[in-house]
Amino acid sequence: MKLIITLISFIVLGAFAHPSFAQNTAQEEFGGSLPARTNDAAHPCISKQQYEFIEKRCAENIKTLHLDNKEQRTTTSTTFSWPLEPANGLNDCGYYVIFNYVDEDTTSGIKDYNCGAVTYDGHRGTDIGTEPYPFYKMDHNEVNVIAAAPGTIIEKSDGFFDRNCAMNSDTANYIIIQHTDGSVALYWHMKKFSLTSKVVGQTVVAGEFLGVVGSSGAATGPHLHFEVWSTISSSSLRDPWSGACNHYNPASWWAAQKPYTEPAVLKAQVNMLPVVLPGCDTTETPNEDSCFAPGVTAKFYFFLRNETAGDTVHERIINPDGSNFLIWTHNSLTNYLYSYWYFNRVLPSIAGTYTYETKYNGITCSKNFTVSCATLGVQPNADDEKIRVFPNPANTVLDIALNDVDNAPYSLTLRNIVGQVVSKDIEEITTRNGQRSIPVAAFPNGIYFLEVASGKMRIVKKIIIQN
Ligand SMILES: [Zn+2]
Repeated sequence: MKLIITLISFIVLGAFAHPSFAQNTAQEEFGGSLPARTNDAAHPCISKQQYEFIEKRCAENIKTLHLDNKEQRTTTSTTFSWPLEPANGLNDCGYYVIFNYVDEDTTSGIKDYNCGAVTYDGHRGTDIGTEPYPFYKMDHNEVNVIAAAPGTIIEKSDGFFDRNCAMNSDTANYIIIQHTDGSVALYWHMKKFSLTSKVVGQTVVAGEFLGVVGSSGAATGPHLHFEVWSTISSSSLRDPWSGACNHYNPASWWAAQKPYTEPAVLKAQVNMLPVVLPGCDTTETPNEDSCFAPGVTAKFYFFLRNETAGDTVHERIINPDGSNFLIWTHNSLTNYLYSYWYFNRVLPSIAGTYTYETKYNGITCSKNFTVSCATLGVQPNADDEKIRVFPNPANTVLDIALNDVDNAPYSLTLRNIVGQVVSKDIEEITTRNGQRSIPVAAFPNGIYFLEVASGKMRIVKKIIIQN
């Protein structure tokens, strides 16, 4: 498979590369499918016992708060906006993948609203994963769950474990909202202690913050399970997606229903070191760079949603003057719900700020990078100077000084060249400064990466240990 892709990529480049483009010796292409955050028929997102529990709680809460008397049932059906939004400065080209729809097949088979198979047997909601880097996104509060429609909170659960990788009987962090027409929406699997401070009985407007996407309850990674009932009984399940195989309701509940598939580039990035995707529940290491030495070989990554066989992804590196430095293509041979690819490419040797552009399905996703940052006086990151590590190369002990930073807990994570965490520490900053020492005598000599991260910032420093 890899050999075929490499061969095709070579032929395509050989046939179409313009002779005036920079010579490129490393043509390899790597990548493929990435895992879906999904459950299965035997271990659904919400168990039978949990449905019984929340039905009871919803009924009790409505009675206690006299919400049943307040609710004026109307025939107007609820209209949903999208229940997720990017937060905390997340400006990737995309941030979600739909891993499962409602299973419309009441037998042991599977069928989604569009008569496809993007579901698992017995699934009762829409599973929306936050990709790429779901645990990184969760740690940095990068994707919010927001109310898809206005209503009243009729049930809420918070404080439960949120890094679950097992389809077990864990309790989820969730919110259940009743709309004015009596219908109900469930927002499931959220991050521990991330939920809105609003309590049962309070109202929310459409788009209001409810919590952060997490992996609480039965889950194999962070995603939102969004489920709709027409009453407070779980037997009144609805499927908000309108399609030929939706047997629950003819009309869509979405104000603007998204297409069944949305082929798109979620993220484009340039790296010296590989992306590290360790799997559930370890936080991923994007290893994204913005400054490069001239003429080195870098890795050009892109992450795709709904990659479709027969499609072509157009890639190029754009010179500072807007002309092409290099173009190439990725030809899709297989359908993937969620996939990534990367290419080794030799960078320009002339100092300047270049653009890496990936174009797929009419959507362009770009990432700027600089060759010879020091020459151009470019700061790789404004926060970079606030974190000092010394001595470097280090022996015996590595000292880390944090100067003029916000007061917050900072995680100090040291990883080896293959991304394994060799040391992890928390430094609580209360006077905008702090210093911490990490003993490194026991670590093998080599290149390491220190990540200093708080809720607001993340700095990675390259460290050499030479004992
Ligand atoms: Zn689900």
